[in-house]
Amino acid sequence: MSICNGFAGAIGNTPLIRLRHLSDETGCEILGKAEFMNPGGSVKDRAALFIIEDAERRGALRPGGVVVEGTAGNTGIGLAHICNARGYRCVIVIPETQSQEKIDLLRTLGAEVHTVPAKPYKDPNNYQKIAGRMAGEMDNAIWANQFDNVANRQAHAETTGPELWRDTDGGLSAFTCATGTGGTLAGVARYLKAQSEHVRCVLADPSGSALFRYVKTGTPEVEGSGSITEGIGSTRVTSNLEGTPLDDAYSIPDQEAVSMVYRLLHEEGLFLGSSSGVNVVAAVRLARDLGPGHTIATILCDGGSRYYSRLFNAEWLAGKGLRAGA
Ligand code: PMP
Repeated sequence: MSICNGFAGAIGNTPLIRLRHLSDETGCEILGKAEFMNPGGSVKDRAALFIIEDAERRGALRPGGVVVEGTAGNTGIGLAHICNARGYRCVIVIPETQSQEKIDLLRTLGAEVHTVPAKPYKDPNNYQKIAGRMAGEMDNAIWANQFDNVANRQAHAETTGPELWRDTDGGLSAFTCATGTGGTLAGVARYLKAQSEHVRCVLADPSGSALFRYVKTGTPEVEGSGSITEGIGSTRVTSNLEGTPLDDAYSIPDQEAVSMVYRLLHEEGLFLGSSSGVNVVAAVRLARDLGPGHTIATILCDGGSRYYSRLFNAEWLAGKGLRAGA
């Protein structure tokens, strides 16, 4: 083990975990990249670091400055950690529909948290737009703007993608994951396709997101009635996602994602959030579509402890018409 320099130095180089039961069942190697093992607990630590370092390099963020962001939680948590480590103030605007655990954690980390009513992207009071306006009104402040700031995608093109290629010795057949900002999928797919155009790159979309139709027809179009998953799904094509080389898309129903989360907990000992469930369901579909003998990677985005009150609360799930357990 080499020594990492501070919080930022500990981001990335996460293990690639072979999911034993699903691999044996499908005859493929199904691999989950353990992004929940980043020091801030999610895949978004990578984007948070690249966004802050890009702003520092451009001189947009100077010592003692402020980082403002609209976030469903995990990016904010990554930003709050890095702000503490570098002496910045962190201001977070979060829709009140997000889990209380993430909001409490942000406050514990010292971020100034503003919870706002959930509004569609087109509404001027959408949480992202509020964050943009707040940053514009402050001195020495940046709006991280994770959705359209391509430093986010760059994090995955420069780190997550190369790590996946390295750890599979260039033997990866396919990659799939869901998107929130699109940074992970776009960065990884761009890198992998540049190594080999034969690596199949597939979007995993929760129900109610517009991107499944976008990949299938070229036009984003909302279908279904929404999803209980957090941090993923989109009604628009972000700057990060634009131009991503994708071969296909799967639409994943909530019950399949929830059941997979419980299977992963009980069979593999992995305690994960709902987006990891969507991702692993998509990886299994890929295995079935491609047939045995392929190596398929996906992302285990964050840990289950951020979702005690929802995903791991049978009553809450029942209220959404969903069943706890595999
Ligand atoms: N899973 C979770 C739990 C997330 O918070 C996010 C980010 N919002 C994602 C997946 C999607 O990552 P990305 O923004 O890179 O598309």
